[in-house]
Amino acid sequence: MFDSCWGHIEVSFLMIKKIPRQVLEVLGKIEKSGFEAYVVGGCVRDLIMDRLPKDWDIATSAKPENIVGIFGEDKTFYENKFFTVGIKTEDPSIGIIEVTTYRTESGYSDRRRPDEVRAAETLEEDLGRRDFTMNAIALGANGEMKLTDPFDGQKDIEHKLIRTVGEAKDRFSEDALRMMRAIRFHSELGFEIEKETLEAIEEHSGLISHVALERIRDEFSKIVLSSNPSEGVDMMHKLGLLSYVVPELEKGVGVKQNRHHIYTIYRHCLLSLKYCPSNKLEVRLASLLHDIAKPQTKRGEGEFATFYNHDHVGSKVAESILKRLRYSTEIVSKVKLLVDNHMFYYNPDEVSESSVRRLVSKVGLENMKDLLDLRIADRLGSGTPKAKPYKLRHLEYMIDKVSQDAVSVKMLKVGGNDLMEELGIKPGPKIGTILDVLLAEVIEDASKNNREYLLEKAAMLEIEDLEKIRAMAKEKIEEKKEEDDKEIKGKHWVK
Ligand code: ATP
Ligand code: MG
Repeated sequence: MFDSCWGHIEVSFLMIKKIPRQVLEVLGKIEKSGFEAYVVGGCVRDLIMDRLPKDWDIATSAKPENIVGIFGEDKTFYENKFFTVGIKTEDPSIGIIEVTTYRTESGYSDRRRPDEVRAAETLEEDLGRRDFTMNAIALGANGEMKLTDPFDGQKDIEHKLIRTVGEAKDRFSEDALRMMRAIRFHSELGFEIEKETLEAIEEHSGLISHVALERIRDEFSKIVLSSNPSEGVDMMHKLGLLSYVVPELEKGVGVKQNRHHIYTIYRHCLLSLKYCPSNKLEVRLASLLHDIAKPQTKRGEGEFATFYNHDHVGSKVAESILKRLRYSTEIVSKVKLLVDNHMFYYNPDEVSESSVRRLVSKVGLENMKDLLDLRIADRLGSGTPKAKPYKLRHLEYMIDKVSQDAVSVKMLKVGGNDLMEELGIKPGPKIGTILDVLLAEVIEDASKNNREYLLEKAAMLEIEDLEKIRAMAKEKIEEKKEEDDKEIKGKHWVK
């Protein structure tokens, strides 16, 4: 049906050299058994662009049962209904090679997933169901080195263009996720979206509301993790997709801040994501969402507008967004923690070791690096970076300095067992409460973390009734929290 075109032999040769031995072996074995097999999709695109492919996909004329027969049941797994057999490799950098029988997809009546996936007869038919021309190129690596490129994908790669295979509006109506994928490739590869494809996204953006949220989440995460994430999110906004995926971000569009900010809330969110120094998904999401509640907490106008509590309200808004997008509990709680604590106050001249311990106790030592990365993103994204790098370096030094100090009950020199054995306190809630009071003291003064002192103090507490000790623990923690908050508000009031 289509002319297969030959790639430049030299380019192909270099490309073949980059294909791992294991992948070539899989191709060879399938061909030896009398079937066709090609490397296809994103990995061919990446090879042409001289990028390292993330994963290896093979398209074949063989049926799944043939593949399982060729490689054996212990080396393969076949459990989905999309004609894909995974072949295990020993090499973790390659992982699983996915071998998929030529297929077509017919009908997307609910616009979520194809109604039916049918086997196709030819490679060209299989390439025709793929999303973009750059992803619809096959490379035969056995025998003759040959690129099959029926939709001129190589030319689009050369011109850095994202163009649908066939009519854009039809392809987006079939599967609206492709609109997100176009934007994802734009921010990952720096390609422009071709005019008709772009217009079709603008026209059909509303169809994204039919797509399963898990699929949207996966593409959204890839945009957030790409090399140009703010560009991707802004393009989602301009083309009308963001209002379906994260409408909360759009509340900040055009909303001015105060004299300490030159950007609107929306622009600042994007720039914080852009400058986020971390490659972790949760830190990048926190950078994008840390000021998500600024629009609703804004009081006053002009230079002196305030945003009190936007951090705490924001952590709840971030939670609801991420839960809606079906992010894992780990991601949700981490982003929540980071957003909730992003306003921590730090000034080398004024802050004591005990307040650094309180911060570490609240956030967790293991999360401090991510919180600092969020602070860097926030600063760089504000256009008027107030935090001088030495401040953050000093905080890092302080964190390091207090990192051996007790910031959790686990790290106290006495535990529940000691209280029971040494002081004969009966098991029960009193023990935990006494430990809370001890911890509050030790955070305040690290030298108190010694057995003798703590046992003595515990013995004094033990004779009080439970409610009184509870009140003491609460008071100690709250009191300090208020002090810290006052400092934050005093020094940092404008944020
Ligand atoms: P990555 O580099 O992120 O792996 P990729 O292009 O390989 O990018 P995958 O999601 O791994 O993307 O999909 C592999 C291939 O399957 C794509 O290159 C494309 O040919 C095809 N494909 C994936 N999703 C779709 C879709 N929604 N519609 C049509 N074709 C798709
Ligand atoms: Mg891929």
